Amino acid sequence: MKDYIQVDEWRIIEEGFRPEYNTISESIFSLGNGRMGQRANFEEVYSGETLQGNYVAGVYYPDKTRVGWWKNGYPEYFAKVINAANWIGIDITLGAEQLDLAKCEVIAFRRELNMKDGYLKRSFRAKTAKGIEVEVDTTRFCSIVDDETGAIRYTITPFNYSGPITISPFVDGDVANKDSNYDEKFWDEVTRESWNNGGYIQLRTKKTGFEVATGQRFTVSQNNLPVEVDAKKIEKDKYVASAITLEVVAGQPVSVIKYAANISSQNYPAAALAEVLKTTLKVISEKGFEKMLAEQAAAWGKKWQHNDIIIEGDASAQQGIRFNIFQLNQTYTGEDDRLNIGPKGFTGEKYGGSTYWDTEAYCVPFYLATADQKVTRNLLLYRYKQLGKAIDNAKLLGFRNGAALYPMVTMDGTECHNEWEITFEEIHRNGAIAHAIYDYVRYTGDEKYLADYGLEVLIAIARFWSQRVNWSDDRRQYVMLGVTGPNEYENNVNNNWYTNTIACWCMQYAMDVAAKVQNQEPAKYKALGDKIGLNERVEFNRFRDIIEKMYFPYDEKLGVFLQQDGYLDKEQILVKDLPASERPINQKWSWDRILRSCYIKQADVLQGIYFFEDKYDIDTIRRNYDFYEPRTVHESSLSPCVHAVIAAKLGDEARAYEFYLRTSRLDLDDYNNDTEDGCHITSMAGTWMAVVQGFGGMRVRDGKLSFNPFLPAKWKSFSFHIGFRGTLLNIRVGKEGVQIKNLSGNELTVTIYGKDQIVKANNELLVEA
Ligand code: BGC
Repeated sequence: MKDYIQVDEWRIIEEGFRPEYNTISESIFSLGNGRMGQRANFEEVYSGETLQGNYVAGVYYPDKTRVGWWKNGYPEYFAKVINAANWIGIDITLGAEQLDLAKCEVIAFRRELNMKDGYLKRSFRAKTAKGIEVEVDTTRFCSIVDDETGAIRYTITPFNYSGPITISPFVDGDVANKDSNYDEKFWDEVTRESWNNGGYIQLRTKKTGFEVATGQRFTVSQNNLPVEVDAKKIEKDKYVASAITLEVVAGQPVSVIKYAANISSQNYPAAALAEVLKTTLKVISEKGFEKMLAEQAAAWGKKWQHNDIIIEGDASAQQGIRFNIFQLNQTYTGEDDRLNIGPKGFTGEKYGGSTYWDTEAYCVPFYLATADQKVTRNLLLYRYKQLGKAIDNAKLLGFRNGAALYPMVTMDGTECHNEWEITFEEIHRNGAIAHAIYDYVRYTGDEKYLADYGLEVLIAIARFWSQRVNWSDDRRQYVMLGVTGPNEYENNVNNNWYTNTIACWCMQYAMDVAAKVQNQEPAKYKALGDKIGLNERVEFNRFRDIIEKMYFPYDEKLGVFLQQDGYLDKEQILVKDLPASERPINQKWSWDRILRSCYIKQADVLQGIYFFEDKYDIDTIRRNYDFYEPRTVHESSLSPCVHAVIAAKLGDEARAYEFYLRTSRLDLDDYNNDTEDGCHITSMAGTWMAVVQGFGGMRVRDGKLSFNPFLPAKWKSFSFHIGFRGTLLNIRVGKEGVQIKNLSGNELTVTIYGKDQIVKANNELLVEA
């Protein structure tokens, strides 16, 4: 846990130079716009500890799966999110000395991420080894208006030095990944070109053949007056730079404005990239830095209008929640149904691949309520388009008849997670994908989606489950053997309660949707049945039989669902009795010891109760929460949010708040000691869930929104926006009660504390506490 980030409601601020935390800050201060992203690396050279990261959405490298004992069914590769060309570079040489903060005495240093307007500022004052003292001010952003571009304003002022200064804006594609094997490089050069005021390189990824043209155009001014640039062009393999040497006078600033763009062959033919790049650079440089920045602020302003959560009376919680919302919006904009939300977004390379069950289980509720419904629809379509590969994946494992097993992690639909206990066994992910369809339709009412796309996915998933279970003669019930539940601290278990539960739910939901589509859109239903060879009588009978005769582990004495067979054989020492020095157990214990312990990495039975809470009475929920919470170590960032929502439902306000705090400042405070690898982007949606579904008690039932809020004791009030079926609401929970503002032109009925309330168009109402 660290606490060097200053508390501010709209800004993330680091004051003072701490090289030992540099990689953490590089993650926290990352920028992105859904299409490209950038860790907070320095523009000028830095020889200290750094993790260089420039990412272009959807561009990856398929690294060969290397494992000791190859097992049939393994994926051939795992996808690496790769470091792409560095577009931010601006090297500075003062006389003969290169400016490098690692070699300077740093007198002052400040980084500031402005979340309101979407830009990063860095300023420092430093003295070089030869005694030259300079001040540097930089501002940069990844534009969310022109989303293939970014811009930087870099100003340097020497204090005690007059003489030559060389400024070299560059683009460098000779980059590596930290996790590459044997320092392997993933890019080859296709072409490069440099001009007096810029240049570009076009690179191609090895194996996958993605091409990206990365280029720059810049202007220079001295003492606030434009300078006619006469650059020395420097070119080498995968690198272009333009070195400008000026005579500076002490006290007079020199500024470079650098416009950059990343143009990818995912969006244009490879042969057209250079032209598109040149045009893009021309357009943005003509627009100019100030105008781009103003447009950026306006666009972020619009996002915040629909997204912001305002917390009064707790600046640290306020900063935490805004940081989470900001990063989620930087990662995914929903404009492209080929993209998804990687666990690290654009803030690091760890985890490989961009899509986990995190998207469906945690991110979907956030985007449903805070963005246009097409954003979530695109997330669903992403999976729909990959259905063929999910069917191939299941075939590889021996399943038949169009059964689909979606990958645990993927870029393009192909499985690329290569630990057998995850790839083969952590199959509950299929359930989350079905649940997201349910969530989307429940929230938006868009039933047409089911007939057009949803049902096909649901049947393929249900087919998988119906083949994955087997009949136990001994029990006279169906069982599901050899699985890993959400709690990855248990592998190869039998009858994980959560997996059995979601499997049955999927089969039932597939049949319910089939009946609905057959009724509402018979022609489409018939066409789909023909396409997928559905034998409704035989297949649905089997689904029904399984649902009816499925085995669910349960302990009568305790009255709780058992996480899996044999869970109670484990030594039941509670987390509170574990010495602090032994935690986190994933860093302190051998894997063998973890597997034999009763400790739960993340919500598992409680994840099921969270998804299907209406199926359980409050006493059942309480008994399970009281049993599992003391055994859960929350060593996945996805865990506390689920516990927060359930604790809030049970009226345990203090615990709900505690869990919320753990997620909301997870990265800002480096709670798990791993922020240097990147931020926990998908769990940030969980923070939102903790506030809106936890403290706000928001649910959607029978096409209606309901709220059951409480105000955390430390707060004066909190408020959030919810978009629901064309109506934008602002809900404010304060000491005086719950105030609902309807910001749209249509009336809406919402349920507050169990009572229906009509909120008239452009009107507000107060339900007193
Ligand atoms: C969690 C998984 C999650 C993955 C990516 C793991 O640590 O246990 O549930 O999908 O991280 O966020």
